[in-house]
Amino acid sequence: MNTQEIIRQYEGFVIKTYTRTPVVVVKGKGLKVWDLDGNEYLDFFPGWAVSGLGHCHPMVVNAVRNYLKKIIHVPNNYYNMLQGKLAQKIIEHSFKGKVFFCNSGAEANEGAIKLLRAYGSPKGRYEIITMKDSFHGRTLATITATGQPKYQKGFEPLPLGFKSVPFNDLKAVRDAITDKTAGIMVELIQGEGGINVAGEDYIAGLRKICDEKDLILIFDEVQTGMGRTGKMFCFEHYGVAPDVMTLAKSLGGGLPIGAMVASAKFQGVLKPGMHASTFGGSPIACSAALAVFEAIKKERLLANTNQMGGYLMQRLEELKTRKSIIKEIRGKALMIGMELSIEGRDIVENCFKQKLLINCAHGNVLRVMPGMIVNRKQIDKAVGILDKAMN
Ligand SMILES: *Cc1c(COP(=O)(O)O)cnc(C)c1O
Repeated sequence: MNTQEIIRQYEGFVIKTYTRTPVVVVKGKGLKVWDLDGNEYLDFFPGWAVSGLGHCHPMVVNAVRNYLKKIIHVPNNYYNMLQGKLAQKIIEHSFKGKVFFCNSGAEANEGAIKLLRAYGSPKGRYEIITMKDSFHGRTLATITATGQPKYQKGFEPLPLGFKSVPFNDLKAVRDAITDKTAGIMVELIQGEGGINVAGEDYIAGLRKICDEKDLILIFDEVQTGMGRTGKMFCFEHYGVAPDVMTLAKSLGGGLPIGAMVASAKFQGVLKPGMHASTFGGSPIACSAALAVFEAIKKERLLANTNQMGGYLMQRLEELKTRKSIIKEIRGKALMIGMELSIEGRDIVENCFKQKLLINCAHGNVLRVMPGMIVNRKQIDKAVGILDKAMN
């Protein structure tokens, strides 16, 4: 089948919930992907950060291939060889606690919301404060947690117990707290909201409020986690640990896996039978995630992310001096947004025509988030294309 035939088949049989660029992607290696017609693209937006180590990282491919020969699925009424090992790895890199495995970011956040409800329920607390312009997923509870009406419209009535307040505004959080409040959920860098970086005082302030009032502080690190910001987890930049952290996107190096990490204080809140996920923590997904940790360490990818993030930022700042449409560049390491004074759609389209894949968030923020293996040459090439695409 050719590209047109494949697209026609989608139109006939796949529910059209996505706006798709008319390209069929058939192969990926590192920062390169190829379409069915043999065109090669430079990928500076690998699946919303999913392919954080680039496409088909050999260590991930090998780990998965080896495990596939042993067993594919082990149900969660038994133990598999790898869930405990991966949980230990996550804990060693984050904070003292335990992990629940699932398959996606929304599901990880659902787990966090359920933990919060379960913890608050003896005190009659259930409300959760989230931020405007946040993004937490597409299930009913997580679209309600998401402080953007466009994701909620048409799905009312929404579940009760969610309130969203302006981002980076401590007073707004304080004012929103009632005796029903059980916790706060926040992204350290809002991804879908347009790469909005949380302030240090803000995050320290949220921690203080939660400690004072015995509220649960949830950091949604689904997009920021696993090294993209130059630290394994973005909260390390702030020196403030959450009570609960959620992960997904790049955790599995391309394979679906999500995790909800709860600090030691909340052990025993979720008891046997209270929460589950059929596919959660499958040995295949765990083998991929363990390989991701290994690759980051072995190939010193955090150091590369910081170096290349700095270089990319510098090149984009240079570009900004020549392009009046660039209003601001912000982010950390390889999670960068460029706010424009115009809509970004045409520029994304122009880049695509020149075989560079980027993204636009929130209408006017170009998002560049190459895999952690990126090098100078690739950055130079991408910035050159962006330059031309803005003419
Ligand atoms: C993508 C994303 C989610 C949702 O993840 P899914 O795997 O699509 O369910 C949640 N939170 C943040 C911050 C995200 O970027």
